[in-house]
Formats: sequence, structure tokens, C-alpha cells
Amino acid sequence: MVMNRLAPPRLRLDRLPAATWAAAGLAVLAAFLAFTTSLSAAVLMVLAGAASYWALRERQRFVISSSPGDQIGLIDLGQLTPLLEALPDPALLIDAESRIVGSNAAARRQMHFEARGQFLTSILRHPDVLEAVHAAVREGATGAVEYETPAQVDRHTRCYVAPVTWGADRAAMLVFHDQTARISTERMRADFLANASHELRTPLASLTLLIETLAGPARDDAADRDRFLGMMQIQADRMRRLIDDLLSLSRIELDEHVPPSDRADLAAVAREVADSLSPLLKERKINLDLNAPATPVRVVGERFQLAQVVQNLVDNAVKYTPDGGAVRMEIAASGDREETSAQAGRRWEEAGRVALLTPAAAANRSYAFIRVEDAGPGVAKRFLPRLGERFFRVERETGSERGGTGLGLAIVKHIVNRHRGGFLVESQPGRGSAFAAYVELAEED
Ligand code: ADP
Repeated sequence: MVMNRLAPPRLRLDRLPAATWAAAGLAVLAAFLAFTTSLSAAVLMVLAGAASYWALRERQRFVISSSPGDQIGLIDLGQLTPLLEALPDPALLIDAESRIVGSNAAARRQMHFEARGQFLTSILRHPDVLEAVHAAVREGATGAVEYETPAQVDRHTRCYVAPVTWGADRAAMLVFHDQTARISTERMRADFLANASHELRTPLASLTLLIETLAGPARDDAADRDRFLGMMQIQADRMRRLIDDLLSLSRIELDEHVPPSDRADLAAVAREVADSLSPLLKERKINLDLNAPATPVRVVGERFQLAQVVQNLVDNAVKYTPDGGAVRMEIAASGDREETSAQAGRRWEEAGRVALLTPAAAANRSYAFIRVEDAGPGVAKRFLPRLGERFFRVERETGSERGGTGLGLAIVKHIVNRHRGGFLVESQPGRGSAFAAYVELAEED
């Protein structure tokens, strides 16, 4: 029988035990005697009544039915425990005196209590929950209460409270559903939308202003017109970059839960990206020093996405390197997780360093890394953990905005996460920055 519904209370007379029938019989007999004559019979009546009450109370039952009209089975309160235990969420059964009369392992683990019979208030004091329990026990009301528990990461819980009735008694069943992940996803989505709209609104406001100026005061001035058109071009480019990056990011996130199964040569990918950048490097007189083995460095990964990783890291390095400077790119097969993060990200003694992403896979996997090093301004230690956060730009914090999107490193982080790899940064203001990403080496065929 599938027990899927707690039915309203019903005592089945045909299921009552013999003791109860005997006690009830005695009570009827005693009542008859008391009615006809003696005092002793009246005393007998009282005793028999007490016995019958005891018998009934002893046999208090929950009534559980599989569907309306089904055969009804009766089970003891104690038998309800396996049902509670089967629930994945914490669950409690609270009696009319607000005592815990049933619980499952999830509840005991999460709420840190052991003893049955403890008062609910000793483990949970939220007034709305207590009120809902009262309402369930007194009026048979069903309710749901959402509440927040302050902690290092605030925890959001929805507590469902339902009345459970047996005999003349009523209890409340509480089931706790953790809402933290849902609420933080909702907040992230709302923050993301707010940030994206804000980022798009800034260039849009500049464009509107430039259009108004062109249509008005600058209308008949050829030099002004050219200048304003140039400025409009810059803002339009910024909007296009933002939209491209946003689309890229959402595409990556779409299949982030599916690790790639392809193989790619990381060294070849790096060479291709370096080649595609040569006109810009020539223009800025920047020397890109690529240090990669001549033999393929085969990794588990999607070629296009790995190229995006390399491209974003090198773009940044070039962007922050002064004209005439140098950027170093290194690709190597290293070792396990620890060896790789040491080799790829622990080279400058005085630098601040942060692991922006650490692979969850077993520590003994072998990895290959790409490290991109520049001699730019570097990033102050306090900002390092925030690199890879969407829209985060050091320049915005320090008031020296350069017009980046703040999405490049977020794209890298999500791609590397999809590849179940690692991502780290070490940086020293005045010396430069080095970003390294590592992904699993492909096994030899
Ligand atoms: P964008 O470069 O488009 O602003 P990114 O996500 O690529 O966005 O980078 C985020 C921020 O990290 C940048 O705005 C910059 O402040 C900082 N940053 C990234 N790479 C470097 C680097 N090589 N040197 C110094 N700062 C960097």
C-alpha cells in the first residue's frame, strides 16, 4: 500500500482491542447498576470508566489511508518514525504541549538535538513558526513560514506546518525545506540584470547626449561633428563588446554542467591566438614571448573555449602593458593539482596570490597550464579575490575607468570551471600580473 495521504482522524470501532471492549462493557454494566441501586456500583462505574479511558488512550492511533475509500490501517505513534526518517528534509512532530515527539535524522543533524520530549522552543524560537504550530494544534490550520537564520552565509528556510490528529489529540508536523540556494540564485539573477542594465545604460546615455549635441549646437560645425561621431563610435563599440561578452557568458553557462569530452592541443591553441594578435602587438610594439613545448600538449577540452581563455588573458596582459613592453605566455604539462598550482602560480616571492577556482576532481589528476605574465601596473592584494566576478573592474573601484566590460575574467573562470580545471592569479603592484589556468591532461591513446 502506498501511503500518500494523512487522512482526517477516524477511530475504527471494529479495530479496537479486546481490552477496550471489555472496559466499555464494564462501564455500561456499572452505569446500569448505579442507575438501579447501590453506591458500590457507582464506584465500580467510576473505576470502569477510568479503565476504559486508559485502554483507549493506550491505543491512540494515527489513521493513514492510501486514497479515499481505501482500507484504513491503524498504526502506533512510534511507527510513524520510519515515515519521518524517509523524508529527505528535516521533519519534526510536535505534540499539543509543544514537545518534540518525533523527528528524523536530518532534523536531529541540522538542529543539533538528541532527546525526544524536548520542547520545540529549545531548538527553534522563531515566533512565526511557533504561532503556526499553535494554529495547527489548536485549530487544525495548515501553514508555511519562511524565515532566515543569520550565519556566515544566511540560511533561508521554509517550514511547512500541518496538523496531524489522532483520537482527541492533535499534533503538528513540521517539514523544513532549505531555500538558501533558490534565494541566492534569485538574488544573483536580479543583481546580474541590474548590473547588465546599468553597464548598458552608461554608454547609451553618452550616445543620447552626443546625438542631442549633434542635432543642436554642433550641427553646423564640421570639426565638432567629426569629433562627436568618433565619440559615438567608441560608445557603440563598448555596447557591442558588452553584448558580445554577455552572450558569450550565457552560452558558456548553459552547458557548464557538462564537462567537455573533446581533446585539444593547448600549445597549438596558444600559438594561433598569438598569431591573430600580431598586428596589434606590432602597432603597440609589444613583444609576446611564447614559451611552449614543440610537441602537442593534449588536454581534455573544447578547442574554441580554450582559445577564448587564452585570448582573454592575453588581451588583458596586452591592454595593461605599456607600449614597447613585453608579455610572456607559457604552456607546460605539469603534474597533479598541487604541483600545477605551485608551478603556474607561485613564482614571485613578494606577490599577492589567490586561487580564483580550484578543481573539484581528485587531486591526483595530471594537468597542463597556461600562464600569461605582464609587466603592467599589477593589482592590489585586496582586489585579487574579486577578479573573475562579473562586472568587477579595479579601475571602477579606484576611479581610473578604462572602459573594459569586467566580463573577460568571468568568461575565463566559467570556461575553466566547465573544464573542471583551476584558475589563479599572482600580482604585485609595480611588477605586473600573472594569470594561470590549468586543465586536465588527456590520457595517452
Ligand atoms: P575588462 O578587462 O574588460 O575590464 P576583465 O574581466 O578581463 O574585464 O578584467 C576585470 C578587471 O581585472 C579589469 O577591469 C582590471 O581591473 C583587472 N585586470 C585584469 N587583467 C589585468 C592585468 N593583466 N593587469 C592588471 N589588471 C587586470
